[in-house]
Formats: sequence, C-alpha cells, structure tokens
Amino acid sequence: MDEDKSKVDKLDVLSSTQSIIHKALSKLGYPEEMYELLKEPIRMMTVRIPVRMDDGSTKIFTGYRAQHNDAVGPTKGGVRFHPQVTEKEVKALSIWMSLKAGIVNLPYGGGKGGIVCDPRHMSFREVERLSRGYVRAISQIVGPTKDIPAPDVLTNSQIMAWMLDEYSRIREFDSPNFITGKPLVLGGSHGRESATAKGVTICMMEAAKKKGIDMTGAKVIIQGFGNAGSFLAKFMADAGTRVVGISDAYGALYDEDGLDIDYLLDRRDSFGTVTKLFKDTITNEELLEKECDILVPAAIENQITSRNAANIKASIVVEAANGPTTLEATKILSERGVLLVPDVLASAGGVTVSYFEWVQNNQGYYWTDEEVEGKLRTVLVEAFENIYDLSVRRKVDMRLAAYMIGVRRMAEASRFRGWV
Ligand code: NAD
Repeated sequence: MDEDKSKVDKLDVLSSTQSIIHKALSKLGYPEEMYELLKEPIRMMTVRIPVRMDDGSTKIFTGYRAQHNDAVGPTKGGVRFHPQVTEKEVKALSIWMSLKAGIVNLPYGGGKGGIVCDPRHMSFREVERLSRGYVRAISQIVGPTKDIPAPDVLTNSQIMAWMLDEYSRIREFDSPNFITGKPLVLGGSHGRESATAKGVTICMMEAAKKKGIDMTGAKVIIQGFGNAGSFLAKFMADAGTRVVGISDAYGALYDEDGLDIDYLLDRRDSFGTVTKLFKDTITNEELLEKECDILVPAAIENQITSRNAANIKASIVVEAANGPTTLEATKILSERGVLLVPDVLASAGGVTVSYFEWVQNNQGYYWTDEEVEGKLRTVLVEAFENIYDLSVRRKVDMRLAAYMIGVRRMAEASRFRGWV
C-alpha cells in the first residue's frame, strides 16, 4: 500500500467513527451540541522531538498525543511508533479508546499517542532516546491522574520501561502508575501481554453460544499473526478448536484439517511473519473468503469491504483489529445474518488489563494470573451481554449498540459537569 492511499483510508476511519457516534447520540436522544463536543479530541498536542542518532547527526521526529474526553476520569491509551502515523489516525484511535472504556466501564476517557518513525530501522539506543524525548515533550499533559500511556503498534514493555524511567526522573519520585504494559519487575501486571487475545477469545465464546456453535468442532480463520493473532491462535489450538487459516503481511496459509499452530509460533519472527517460509501460500484476500465458522481479522484496517463482504463464509466475525470492516461491509454482513462482534468490544481486553495494572500500582498490591483472568472474564462477559441485549432490543447491529453504550457514559459525565 503506498503512503497516500493509506492516509486516505485512515481519514475514512475517523469520519466513519464520527458518523456512528452521531447516530448513537441521536438514538440516545442527545442534542447536536453533544456530538460537536465528542466528535474530536478535547485536547491534541503535536510535538517535535530532536534525537541524537548513532552517527552523530540530529533527526527531528513528529509526535502526537490526543486526549478525547476527560469528563469520566483521566484519559488512557497506547503510543504507536509507525512511519504512517497521522494526526487524523491518532484522533480516531483516541475516540475508540473512549468507547472501549465506556463499554467495559473503566473510570477513564480515551487517549492515544503516536510518533512518525520506523523503529524497525533504528538502533536500540536511538529508540530509547526517542521514547525518552517523547515523554519530556508531553510531560505537561500526562500523568497518573491526567493521561496514562501504554503500548500499541511497534511499542513494547521495554519502551514503556524507558518512558516510566524518564517520567519518574522529571517528577523526582517513582511513578509506576504513570504508564501500563510495563515489565513485571517494574510493576507490570500478569496477563497484560496476552490480554487482547484473551478478550477476543472470551467474546468469541459468547458469540458462539448465541449462534449455537460448538467451539470444539469449530473452524477458525485468523488474519494476522502478530501479538493479537498469535496469542489467539495459541489459545484456540490449546482449547482444541481447529485453526484452519492464518496470515501475515506477505500471504496466508489454509488447511481445512487444521494448522500446526505450535510449529508456526516457533518459526514466526518478532514482527509476526511466518508465511515467507512456505511455498503453497494463498493471498490475504483469498483467505478471508475461505470456508470457516468464525473469522477473526487481527491485522490492519479496511479488510472486509463492500467488495468481499458478500463472499465471507463465516457466520461470526470477531474484530480483533481496529477498524477491519467498513461501514458498507458491516451493513452487508448484518443483512446476511452474520454476527459481527465489533472492535471496540472484542479488543477491549488490552485496556481492561491495563486498568487492572494501574489499580495494582495505585494500591501497591499485586494479583495472580488467575485473579487477572477471572476479573477480565467477568468484565467482558457482562459487556458482551449488555451490547448483545441492546442490539436485540433496539434492532440495531452490535457495532451501533456498542457505540451507544460506549458513548453514553462520557455524554452523561459531560452533561453532569455542565459542559453541554
Ligand atoms: P502486530 O504488529 O503485532 O501484528 C500485525 C500482524 O498483521 C502481523 O502478523 C503482520 O504481518 C500482519 N499484517 C500487517 N500488514 C498486513 C496486511 N496488509 N495484510 C495482512 N496482514 C498484515 O500487531 P498487533 O498488536 O497484533 O495488532 C493487530 C491489530 O489488533 C491492530 O489493528 C491493533 O490496533 C489491534 N489491537 C491490538 C491490541 C494489542 O494489545 N496488541 C489491542 C487492541 C487492538
């Protein structure tokens, strides 16, 4: 995909999010002013970060931090390092974080950050200097009771550790609750790394019950074999579900008898690439239309569109990726009776366990893996049921129902504060 095309797609992601928010607010009876408040972040900071490169030159990077709405509580959301990060994308992602927080009832609004860079082509020390420089640049507007960052695409627990260290130095006290997704030894939480995939699994099980699908005999296709996709494939395989297809940016593998997931996990690289090792691959487009019961897009946005929605064989689509299905495709799938579990619900496991991490940091008392998983299950099953019930009661698809629940709390909080 060339850069210009990807920017157009990302622009669409913001405007389609705004249009569903508009619809959700009108269904809930809110006035137009509420939409005017919630359609954009309440605060958006652009920073320029000078970084001394290993060859002695200085490179200036552009970074962003968006805070969508802080009526409910501090904002929260990841920091993305990617060459195609744009201001519009960061805005859209911050709105999605607000919706997720509303859906799983966390005391947060949504935030998001990004730096235009490619860490895959930078040294370890250059990435460290960039991460520390970003924290210095945004330190005025972030903090444990203001805005709490976390990992996202191409950022990880090591980067969170550098950011935590920089923030603690600026404030002159240890602040583990400033950031989540940290290594365990610095106050990270059990279960954080696999939380998104665990949440997707919980939503998938609930959706299968609604459709009367027995997961032991079910066939699942997962697009994307990175953090979300690979943990999910492992959970599925361990539970005896047949993973018949997986893919990465270079192609896809399909076997109707089921793939050997442990073998593929052993061979994937740290960027989630594995298909290059095989000759008999198919394309990502072909994979999406293959026979299966459940399809999980876990890679990038705009994968199910008006061009292929009619050919999807799955009776359940669970969106692990952010924005993989366009609005037109959502309509086609819903008319065909496909149960679509939307991204703002299906991928909310990550922010939920990030919240658990922050709670543990605040109280200085840490939970076991089992405690974290049990609490995550309780939160997500309840969120799924609320959204499913609302979608049946109001005769709307699950995406609109999820937006109605997600937006309602921040609208209420904004109204009580007298903002609208
Ligand atoms: P990742 O970078 O670890 O993995 C991405 C995977 O997608 C890789 O296997 C990559 O090869 C593949 N991919 C990239 N471009 C592709 C293309 N054009 N076609 C097909 N496959 C392609 O990312 P991740 O953390 O697993 O995130 C995947 C999606 O899930 C993103 O949309 C992300 O926003 C969303 N998500 C992730 C988390 C999380 O905690 N990791 C949380 C919420 C949402």
